[in-house]
Amino acid sequence: MIMKFRFLGGADSIGRMGMTIEDGRKTMLVEYGMSPTKPPEYPITAPKIDHLFLTHCHLDHCGMVPAICGRDGCEVFTTPLSAEISELMLYDSLKIGESEGYDVPFTAGDVEKTMDLVVPFTFKDTIELGKTDVTLHSAGHIPGAAMFEFICDRRTLYTGDLHTENQKLVLGAKPVKCDNLIIEGTYGGRNHPPRDETIKEFIAKIDEVIDRGGTVVVPCFAVGRTQEIMIILKGLGYDMWVDGMGRSVTGLFMNYSEYLRDPRTMRSARKAFKEVKSSNTRKQAAKGQIIVTTGGMLDGGPVLGYLRILKDDPKSAILLVGYQAEDTNGRLLLETGSIVLDDEMVKIQCEVKKYDFSAHAGHDELVEFARKCNPENIVIMHSETRELFLPDLQDYNVILPELGKEFELDV
Ligand SMILES: [Zn+2]
Ligand SMILES: [Zn+2]
Repeated sequence: MIMKFRFLGGADSIGRMGMTIEDGRKTMLVEYGMSPTKPPEYPITAPKIDHLFLTHCHLDHCGMVPAICGRDGCEVFTTPLSAEISELMLYDSLKIGESEGYDVPFTAGDVEKTMDLVVPFTFKDTIELGKTDVTLHSAGHIPGAAMFEFICDRRTLYTGDLHTENQKLVLGAKPVKCDNLIIEGTYGGRNHPPRDETIKEFIAKIDEVIDRGGTVVVPCFAVGRTQEIMIILKGLGYDMWVDGMGRSVTGLFMNYSEYLRDPRTMRSARKAFKEVKSSNTRKQAAKGQIIVTTGGMLDGGPVLGYLRILKDDPKSAILLVGYQAEDTNGRLLLETGSIVLDDEMVKIQCEVKKYDFSAHAGHDELVEFARKCNPENIVIMHSETRELFLPDLQDYNVILPELGKEFELDV
């Protein structure tokens, strides 16, 4: 059976994801996100939607779901953990929109309605939707992140964000035999250094900074990276603090511990860190040895408070462990050694280093995953470097969809 597919965002870029599938009677939407840039960017307006599928709770995938659910009242299929963290992220994004003076295209009421429309389902579950069965698989990206397998006459796998290597928090994704593979390609043309070596170097740097009397600030995204870093550091025995929204996310991870690789490890990591709950404890934390805190790109969140205190101390260090997008303070710090703090360009005297703890598969891992899925057609999305996959995928019919342009697949 032929179905029509169309990317409303995120085909040849990272951010504001959205893809429709039309079977002639119904329209399904897979993800609907936003890019939290200044100002934020949104996907093309979706047509009327019957069913919505959400892979995970990062804003580039979930950030605009309430605009659709509020408008069309469609059900949202996702894991219960992704639903709960999305709720947290969406309210936070509304708050940021208001404080920065942007028009957010949905209301708190739409978020509430979205949560009422969630149909929770979990890995290996299958739901029947007319002619299509849908099965959920773990995407290995962050806890609760899912890949959707659409089973009609043939099989179509949509990966969302994907990692195939084991991380401390989640085990890597396993290939799923399919005819059509719609796969992310964030790391087209790039591979990660071995994770074990990165961890060794990261810990050696932390020991060095603490030995010379400095404080280590690790700016982290709230969902996934904060907890991965906490687990990596949990045995060091230093005076360690965790600040920002990552704290509540850790609580949600513990409530849905079936999505974690090892709940006991997460629990002991949580015990190894002291939580910053007030401005008083924040002052205490700034005198500590390690602070793991949001926001990951230094564009807001408690991290800026710590930098105000530590910026002139060359003994201290800022260790970046996540992607630093263009036009963010994190990127500025890496390129110039300065950041914008309270509307002023400020030189940071601390040591600055970046470590690759990506939750996305590298180029070779993606190619290997694709080959093991053994599809006929491969659609590459969520990538700025998609053409770099072409030499390695010559045995397949590769489709690089364009924004807003329809393409067909036999499903
Ligand atoms: Zn993600
Ligand atoms: Zn993403």
